[in-house]
Amino acid sequence: MTIPKPNPGTPRAERSMTLDDRLRADLAALEGAGLRRARRIVEGPTAGSNGVEVVVDGRQLVNFCSNDYLGLAGHPELRAALIRGAELWGVGAGAAHLVSGHSRAHHALEEELAAFVGRPAALLFSTGYMANLGIASALAGRGDLVLEDRLNHASLLDAGLLAGARFARYAHADAVDAARVLARSDAPTKLVLSDGVFSMDGDLAPLPELSVTARAHGATLVVDDAHGLGAVGAGGRGTLEHHGLTLDDVPVLMGTLGKAFGCFGAFVAGSEALVEHLLNRARTYLYTTALPPALAEAARAALKVAAREAWRRERLAVLIARFRAGAAERGIALMPGSSSQAPIQPILVGDAARAVAWSDALRERGLWVVAIRPPTVPDGSARLRVTLSAAHSDAQLERLLDALHETNLEARP
Ligand SMILES: *Cc1c(COP(=O)(O)O)cnc(C)c1O
Repeated sequence: MTIPKPNPGTPRAERSMTLDDRLRADLAALEGAGLRRARRIVEGPTAGSNGVEVVVDGRQLVNFCSNDYLGLAGHPELRAALIRGAELWGVGAGAAHLVSGHSRAHHALEEELAAFVGRPAALLFSTGYMANLGIASALAGRGDLVLEDRLNHASLLDAGLLAGARFARYAHADAVDAARVLARSDAPTKLVLSDGVFSMDGDLAPLPELSVTARAHGATLVVDDAHGLGAVGAGGRGTLEHHGLTLDDVPVLMGTLGKAFGCFGAFVAGSEALVEHLLNRARTYLYTTALPPALAEAARAALKVAAREAWRRERLAVLIARFRAGAAERGIALMPGSSSQAPIQPILVGDAARAVAWSDALRERGLWVVAIRPPTVPDGSARLRVTLSAAHSDAQLERLLDALHETNLEARP
């Protein structure tokens, strides 16, 4: 946010504006541009709805904007593990991992995460945002290069800015453009950071090309697979599994536990050396309280269920295919690059106010689809971000498709 600051040239009256005056002016500017955000209060899931029906502002809505892709957030085994975990461990971890906060539950989860993604080691972080900040700052610094896809998630972009290295971006999903920047750099350490599935576009990064490019230029590829893990790949091992990529291709993998795994938290998986380095150097690991151990127990249950109940991924794939086909039949244009593999299926609208109006019209019909506006996405590319979950029923999907058709507010040429 840019809060208008008084400068020496501004009239005295404005210079004497209080902080609240300036904040209100900024909010009014956001409002005027159709970019002011507000939260909706979820009263709770409706009974028996698998968590996909929620009551919001007194109205029952089918949720098509959560990242609970496998429908695990309300799964009975996860609930039971969380409760058992709280009975055993209490609520808070009480300290950072390197003090006294690292429990057997955390340690077991790290081992199971490493096994799940087929890597030697994994390290838990409290959130994906913090994991990304920690990775970039621990692996790069002054004199180094951090190179990112223009459409990376905000946390990866912030991570690059915070690392203190030279920060550069390449054209979206363009490994040739990335190669051009890498070829011009003689930085001792070069990191290439990319989402595995782009969070607002639903397309897959060209990871095979990026890994070849990174290696050719002595760079390290870091993949944030927040939206791939659990949902993408035959075994739910994410975009690396989908593309058949190994530890050598992608030395640093970040995954989150708050999306397809239905929990909270994040991890980084790679070599033993990587994990030892991060636990010594990543400030967002060192200086924060460990996740509640009960949550680690819930995440362990999530991994088990995700591996065992393959039908959830199969069901998700069926819904994605039906949604794409149904949208095409009804003349609803999905984002050009959006992938048939990913649970994120956005509809490009363009104008922010129109995207909001469309989202409002859907809510009137009991469907919750969030409008995504700048600065989360580039100017002029506001969209409806539809996300699908294995927990959605056929009838709910049909309702969404029909309502999208009836309320279509897309920008038409
Ligand atoms: C959600 C998300 C994150 C942040 O993860 P949290 O655990 O929610 O902090 C990071 N990267 C991407 C691509 C995401 O979508």
